[in-house]
Order: sequence, then C-alpha cells, then structure tokens
Amino acid sequence: MRTKIVAGNWKMNNDKKESKKLIKDLKKAIKKEKLKNTRVIVAPTFVNLSASLKAANDSAIEVVAQNMHQAKNGAYTGEISADMLKAIGIKTVILGHSERRTYFNETDESLAAKVDAILENDLETIFCFGELLEDRKSENHFAVVESQISNALFHLEAGAWKSIILAYEPVWAIGTGETASAEQAQEMHAFIRSIVAKKYNQEVADAVSILYGGSVKPANAEEIFSKPDVDGGLIGGAALNVDDFTGIIKAI
Ligand code: PGA
Repeated sequence: MRTKIVAGNWKMNNDKKESKKLIKDLKKAIKKEKLKNTRVIVAPTFVNLSASLKAANDSAIEVVAQNMHQAKNGAYTGEISADMLKAIGIKTVILGHSERRTYFNETDESLAAKVDAILENDLETIFCFGELLEDRKSENHFAVVESQISNALFHLEAGAWKSIILAYEPVWAIGTGETASAEQAQEMHAFIRSIVAKKYNQEVADAVSILYGGSVKPANAEEIFSKPDVDGGLIGGAALNVDDFTGIIKAI
C-alpha cells in the first residue's frame, strides 16, 4: 500500500512565534487521529526550520524545507544548500513549486540538478509540477506534465525513486479557489503513473506517492483523496489554519 501524505506548504507565511504555535496546535489536534500509513508534513520558511523542528519533536509531524540550491556551497548569495538543511535535521525538500518556476526562473534543467543534490545527500523531495491554464485550454496539459517530469526526473535510476514524492499542481488551481475536479486529478495522476511505469516498471510506478495540490480545502479533500491514484495533498492556504489542515488530514 502506498504511503498517504498531507503536506502543508506555508510559503512566505508565519514568523517564528506563529510557526511554533501552529505546530503545537497541530500536534494537539492530530493526537486523536489514527495516522495509519499517513505522513503529516509542514514546510515553514528557512529561518523558522530549526524552531519548527524543535516544536515538532516527539510528534508525527515532519518538518521539511520549501526549496534549496543545487550547489554544495560557494558564491551564491542568499541561497541554502542540501548539506546545510541536512545538518539541522531536515530530511525532505519541496522542489519545483510553480511559484519558484514563475518568480525565480527555475527550469526543468536547474530542477534536475537540485534533484541530483537531493539524492547525493540522501534526502527526499516532494517534486512539484503542473500545467498553466493555457496549456489545459489548448489540451496540452498531458504533454506539458510529461515533459516537466521527464526533463527533471527521468535521468534517475529506478532505485532513486524511493526518494521521490510527486505533487501535481495545476497552476490555474493554486491559490485561486478553483480546484481540479476529482476526475481531472485522477485522470492526470493515472497518466503520471503510466509514464513512470513505461519509463521504469510497474513496481516503481505503483510505489510512488502522487499528491494533488491546488485549493484543497476540508470541503473538497475527501472527494479528491477518494480517487485511487491520488495519495494525498500539498496544501497552501488551508495549511495555515489548524482546523482546516486537520480537516484535510481527517479526510485522508
Ligand atoms: P493552495 O496552494 O492550496 O493555496 O492553492 C497549493 C500550493 O501552492 O501548494
């Protein structure tokens, strides 16, 4: 059985005090839930990772980073390496979020290098991708998603896929209040699994968790999560509120 995952991407929200409080509230809220085969993840900002790790200590909550640089170290002002994250106890890093691609010019090529740095450091990634509205309107969404995945991930050996979690996030659904329908999510997730199976084998495809992201809320989570190829969610706005995030965890 594939691992279910509910991951909260806090983006550039929550200062130190707010980060610690949200984790403490979440700790209390999920204590009563049976988290069988389900991972609960939060991604605070870089400066609040250490405080968040401390706050999440002795709980099921995993603290992950939102990004990293591919180089080991060097003259990259303002950047943070995989080693540095690993040294403070981070095990997982979100890569390729559409906001990184759009506002910080991340490309499939730079993301492939980041994925390599993840693997060299025995870390894991939640790798994000998804089409723009114009891609869907022109019915190019499958081709776009296939190229994003193949350009950044298909140079990996099959064994590396145990460190990869995929997150399909149609850009038109992020922060817009508009979600893909459960059917649209399932259709794309099944397609993604099929291209991974074609490139590697069915075993690799069946083992990889594929998350859906884009305006997931407690009210729509259950329907989306009920689909066979949807293994959880990457949550933005609704991850900032403990009741909403807990509601989504309950839905899984
Ligand atoms: P949203 O963001 O849930 O606010 O749409 C999702 C994401 O960006 O991961």
